[in-house]
Amino acid sequence: MSVSTAATPAALAPPADAPLPVLGRDVSVPLVTGGEVAYAALDYAASAPALQRVWDDVAAYAPYYGSVHRGAGYLSQLSTDLFESSRRTIAAFLGCRADDQVVFTRSTTDSLNLLAAALPADCQVFVYETEHHASLLPWRDAQVAYLDAPRTPARAVEILERALADRDPHGPALVCVTGASNVTGELWPVKELAAAAHAHGARIVLDAAQLAPHHPVDITELDVDWVAFSGHKLYAPFGSGVLAGRADWLRAAEPYLAGGGASRTVARRADGGVDVDWHTTAARHEAGSPNVIGVHSIASACKALTEAGFDRLVAREQELVSRVRVGLAEVPEVRVLSLFGDDAPRVGVLSFVVRGWNSSHFAAALSAEYGIGVRDGLFCAHPLVRTLLGGDPQEAGECGAPESGPGERPLNAIRVSFGAGT
Ligand code: PLP
Repeated sequence: MSVSTAATPAALAPPADAPLPVLGRDVSVPLVTGGEVAYAALDYAASAPALQRVWDDVAAYAPYYGSVHRGAGYLSQLSTDLFESSRRTIAAFLGCRADDQVVFTRSTTDSLNLLAAALPADCQVFVYETEHHASLLPWRDAQVAYLDAPRTPARAVEILERALADRDPHGPALVCVTGASNVTGELWPVKELAAAAHAHGARIVLDAAQLAPHHPVDITELDVDWVAFSGHKLYAPFGSGVLAGRADWLRAAEPYLAGGGASRTVARRADGGVDVDWHTTAARHEAGSPNVIGVHSIASACKALTEAGFDRLVAREQELVSRVRVGLAEVPEVRVLSLFGDDAPRVGVLSFVVRGWNSSHFAAALSAEYGIGVRDGLFCAHPLVRTLLGGDPQEAGECGAPESGPGERPLNAIRVSFGAGT
């Protein structure tokens, strides 16, 4: 299988002795058994701690803090430069095409909702039932076709091709797919899916929330139409995200938020209403005062990751995830969850269940007794986790599960995830 990622371009390859990024967090936590231990947060898939370099860059900017886009003052000009140069840094990080737009949002969820709001009226949407809820839910019911969970990457392509072949070929269509699963960490065959989408006249958006922190995501190389990701999973603080890609649908759509900054001119009409001339740049969807620090932080994280070199970060992560797998394989009660099989390439994310244990209790014990922070539940991918646990993806139910005893089907899982600095 050709994996869905691009190698770091040689020109961006860092020197072999470049220091690895350092996390801006180092805390000890009390244990129920007494004493303290250095906290190990193995929950990067939820939010990665911001890098020290990012905090330093934010602190360096603090004295120059000013409003953007609307001020003639020196600090305002400086902040505007920083904001717009961050856009260019992120465009380069994503390998954007010359006419792509980079729109700043609050998160991946926000980016995908923006795209959903910008779809042409008769657009059909194709999304696997295995997606994170951020990719599964933004689309209107009438327009979306949910695709069955594939058990191999090749099957994923076949399922998509069949669904696209059956669609009305005249209208616009969009495929939405994750690059790396937030449950299994498995890589999806993004390049092949993009080729299948384009062969059938559809477009494709990549949910790179889990992929971007672990691998270079090159929009041109992967040939996807849009990429969405969140700053807080890419070693920047909470509150900022990105939607990058084709400008035409974004330009044609109503502004995602109406307000100042999105409008070029506003004038009262004789009939009492207002005429608005909206921007056609990314600003069209960025009304209101933007999160300059959030955007600056993402750009800083992109630079830190590029300078450190993804190859070295990935090698370290893969080593850690392999060690966990080897350890878990020695415990007969443990089952690691996988859609594509044990040998499938994956990022540093792994979920498992322990026979006879409620996963929430297990996760609580890891924290209280060992100072290890993991995630438990259905990870905002309910249909996928239910399928992996041997249940019915159509079953409804809460994340918090009742006790599961020996022999019973577990109702939720435990997830460990790694990243830079672990
Ligand atoms: N997509 C995937 C694959 C995710 O793992 C997540 C978050 O866990 C999201 C989307 C949503 O990201 P956010 O909560 O930052 O919007």
